[in-house]
Amino acid sequence: MARLALVRTTPSEMAEAAEGYISRGWALIPFSPTSKNPHFEALPLSEDGTGTTWKPLATNKATSETVKGWLEHDPNVNLGVICGQASGIIIIDTDKPLRWPIEYLTPTVKTRRGYHYYLQTDRPYKSMVIKSKTGEAYGELRAEGNVTIIPPSRHVETGQPYEWVDGLSITDLPLQRINQNLLNTLVKLNPKLNKIELIEDRRALRARKNILPCSHPARSYDPETDSRVEKSIPYLEYLQDPRVAITIMQAIGVKVERIGQAFLCPIHKGEKNPSAALYLPHDQGFITMHDFHTGEFVPLPDLYAAHIKGKYEPLGAGERALWWIRCLVDLGYIDYPRLLARPLPESAPESAQALYAGFTKLLGIRKLYNADQEATPFSWRFAAGWCNLSNRAIQEGMGWLLTHGFMHKVGATTSRTSLFALKPAEAEPQKSSTEKATGGRRAFKRYGVKVYSRNTQKGPRIDHRRARDGLNNPLRL
Ligand SMILES: [Zn+2]
Repeated sequence: MARLALVRTTPSEMAEAAEGYISRGWALIPFSPTSKNPHFEALPLSEDGTGTTWKPLATNKATSETVKGWLEHDPNVNLGVICGQASGIIIIDTDKPLRWPIEYLTPTVKTRRGYHYYLQTDRPYKSMVIKSKTGEAYGELRAEGNVTIIPPSRHVETGQPYEWVDGLSITDLPLQRINQNLLNTLVKLNPKLNKIELIEDRRALRARKNILPCSHPARSYDPETDSRVEKSIPYLEYLQDPRVAITIMQAIGVKVERIGQAFLCPIHKGEKNPSAALYLPHDQGFITMHDFHTGEFVPLPDLYAAHIKGKYEPLGAGERALWWIRCLVDLGYIDYPRLLARPLPESAPESAQALYAGFTKLLGIRKLYNADQEATPFSWRFAAGWCNLSNRAIQEGMGWLLTHGFMHKVGATTSRTSLFALKPAEAEPQKSSTEKATGGRRAFKRYGVKVYSRNTQKGPRIDHRRARDGLNNPLRL
């Protein structure tokens, strides 16, 4: 049968639609017209130059000019949106149409097979699979870390457009706000659906949208100047900027608008009276939180770490530097060299996904110290805090990543601290002559200490461990 050649959405239609989305504050990304992936060629190079990534577009949003650039690069480019905080939206994606409560009618897109229900949010929620009562996947709740192809893009296989449903377009009616009530009503109306529970994503910060500009404009990673950051307190200049300090405090849920203003101490919860304040020394010092309870001056990186970890503990100098960079990265003040880690299969447990994301971020942040660094210590204790996971989840996730060959142990420091690295696909490293001569053990300097690499030709090995046996755990640093 002669099929009509489907006319692609014209670049000008695409540009016009993009302008509408941009005016709503949506963070757009280019999608490939031939695969369901982002259009990597149209994206800027990642900072380490090894590939491209859409992640920076979550904070540094595409403008109409940016979109025009994509369309010039490829007139057939499709458009996508970054879900979650970046755009303030959450999308419910189901293959079968849902019976939707009339009081919650919201802009809806017809896709090739199903529907995308667009909702608004000003809080970060975790993306998740929506399941049926029998446990099968029924759809997806697309929030933090997710992207979705949007109208008037065309489906890669059929050429069918993604279209707003008549009368339910983004210009026809406002987006409904997602809440547990709406989800409960959906479950009631669609008896096949299992309960859908909104889970807040504490890692994606509520205050991201309210980031105050600092006297140093947000900056991208510069290999020339950033490859060796000072270890004591890197990027100290940000810690001297009141606007950055206030943004950090707001990000961790403290209500404060100026230096010196007293607020409820985030460490000692349950107080009714203001019990802490930001303190800016008059000399060359940096801003800290003066805790009236203890009289101590608490560094902001420690407070940020406590917010992510869910508990306060003073940090050692090395960890403080990492958390400080992480804080600036999370809030969008600085960027870091991103690593193109191999994607995990969908079957990977959530613990592995979260651990992998955290580990990759840590490696990228560590590269700010030393661009050549490919391995990092990653103790259970540290990983649990860094990824906000329980010890059990760390155990499960780490076990999965090691046995499935996504991470491997590459050595240990002289203090028997294990070093982990991303494992390349089908890693089959050739033994160098030195390695042969030393039986695969090679001493080299790392972190300023002598390190012995393990023979990486041995597959990853997980020693048997007893449950709750933290101390004898081979993965423990
Ligand atoms: Zn306190």
